[in-house]
Amino acid sequence: MSEKRLRQAIDTLKESGVRITPQRHAVLEYLLTSMVHPTADEIYKALESKFPNMSVATVYNNLRVLREVGLVRELTYGDASSRFDCNTSEHYHIICNECGKIVDFQYPSLHEVESLAEQVTGFDVSHHRLEIYGTCEDCKHVATAKH
Ligand SMILES: [Zn+2]
Ligand SMILES: [Zn+2]
Repeated sequence: MSEKRLRQAIDTLKESGVRITPQRHAVLEYLLTSMVHPTADEIYKALESKFPNMSVATVYNNLRVLREVGLVRELTYGDASSRFDCNTSEHYHIICNECGKIVDFQYPSLHEVESLAEQVTGFDVSHHRLEIYGTCEDCKHVATAKH
């Protein structure tokens, strides 16, 4: 399934006239197969053995290009480093208070809230953010094991 998504993503890059360098390909592949929401640093660490000459700046640069063509979303929560998400379909995030893990879940987008906000405030709404917080299953098990 991720093979297909990788091919589609590469087609999108080609159509946008973006050059597909080996690093860019690797960053994209990592994002599509890891299914986590990594920081640029985590991507760098995962790929540094494969590309010893690559810098964190290169990773950032590649992420910026991928974001510009709409293949990657940048997530900013609080003042932690940005995380990157290659799931660009509409979805929400639940975030673990203990380990910071971000998990996707599908829920119909809350368009009613946006239109209500427009009606009551007169704003032109561009988007909204919604995050759910809690303790993930792994962290729950750790907590139980300690007792
Ligand atoms: Zn956790
Ligand atoms: Zn996501």
